[in-house]
Amino acid sequence: MPATIIVGAQWGDEGKGKIVDVLAERHTLVARYQGGSNAGHTVLVGAEEFKFHLLPSGILSPETVCILGAGVVIDPEVLVRELDELEGRGRPTNGLRISGNAHLVLPWHRLIDQATEVRLGDLQIGTTRRGIGPAYADRAARVGIRVQDLLDRKILREKIIAALSVKKDTLQHVFGVADLDAESIIAQTVAYADRLEPHVADTSLLIAQALARGESLLCEGAQGTLLDLDHGTYPFVTSSNPIAGGACVGLGFGPTHVTSVVGVAKAYLTRVGAGPFPSEADPDDDSALRVKGGEFGTTTGRARRCGWLDLVGLRFAARVNGLTELVLTKLDVLSGFDHVRVCTAYRLPGGRVVDEFPAHQSDFHHASPVFETLEGWQEPLDDVTRVEDLPAAARAYVAYVAGASGVPVSLVGVGQRRDQVLVADAATTCGALVA
Ligand code: GDP
Repeated sequence: MPATIIVGAQWGDEGKGKIVDVLAERHTLVARYQGGSNAGHTVLVGAEEFKFHLLPSGILSPETVCILGAGVVIDPEVLVRELDELEGRGRPTNGLRISGNAHLVLPWHRLIDQATEVRLGDLQIGTTRRGIGPAYADRAARVGIRVQDLLDRKILREKIIAALSVKKDTLQHVFGVADLDAESIIAQTVAYADRLEPHVADTSLLIAQALARGESLLCEGAQGTLLDLDHGTYPFVTSSNPIAGGACVGLGFGPTHVTSVVGVAKAYLTRVGAGPFPSEADPDDDSALRVKGGEFGTTTGRARRCGWLDLVGLRFAARVNGLTELVLTKLDVLSGFDHVRVCTAYRLPGGRVVDEFPAHQSDFHHASPVFETLEGWQEPLDDVTRVEDLPAAARAYVAYVAGASGVPVSLVGVGQRRDQVLVADAATTCGALVA
């Protein structure tokens, strides 16, 4: 069995966590390939709610091996806290494997992230201030500290002292942050090392061996396509590559194993923080979508901006990821609207109308939406168990999205619970797995 990649098709928060959770038990391995504790997944199992920042959502499936790949940046404090919490709730965590090549997020990364955002003032990116960007910057500058450095306490000590000696000046003189105490950071990191060491493994090899045995791999992306460092709406992006290509890079396996690329998209659209958002709804609809959809960040609690489904963005996601299918989540949130709007194209300054995502930032910043209005539906969808039983207008909406994006819709989400996922197309990978 091959590899499937789950990728956010919008600006993140599409509900990937729940979909990975639903698919996890049907896979031998679930692996996160990028991002850090800036991700936030909420998974509801029965009445129990789980929030993850670093752990792959597959961790709730006891038989599954869960991997944090080389492309993930790991804050050991957050990871140890998540492991302790899960174990405290009686959930096994022994299936976790962490790549020795993954980089660590250390206290100075958090301080630099916070201080940089404050300094940028109005120009701030809106990061989660968890040190993710500075950790990736150190990785690119080849001065990062990796998970494998945790395994040798002498090397760990040397590397922390060397890193701090460089950062100290920047922190003190540029950002005005008080001196960091190397000894207490070392002591704390050694304690985390003791806790994490049993989980460290050659995860690229584990994946290769599993694939050779015919087992299946589910790759879990964090954030979303439009937040991709290279292909997203730069500079309002994350510091890694959430798009499907990032899975092979971040986990260390070849693209020839990938047979399905699943884009997860909400039936509408949200965006956190600053940056252009052409299909943003007017204040009434924005607030109705936010309240009904519970659109507040898992990591930061920030209110998300809400708007209508943007087909220009969705077609772009289909292109850059090579989507083979779409999972449309939160269709239930659209119940109660007389009409539902979709953005089918952008009007650029000068009046030109385009249906491909603008390649240049200035065009995107000045794009205004061309909306089409579709019929809404009033009925709540929470208790619907088959796609055939959806109200006609809701079914028409799903069919419209598949047609306009050029990608079949495999599953439709109608609520937070695991069982509130309907099979829309059993011929797709996810459709067949869930049916
Ligand atoms: P992720 O980061 O992409 O996993 O998304 P988040 O976890 O930040 O946000 C998704 C939220 O939507 C979570 O609270 C989920 O429980 C919830 N959710 C997922 N699918 C559905 C759905 O089909 N309907 C509703 N109402 N909520 C959903």
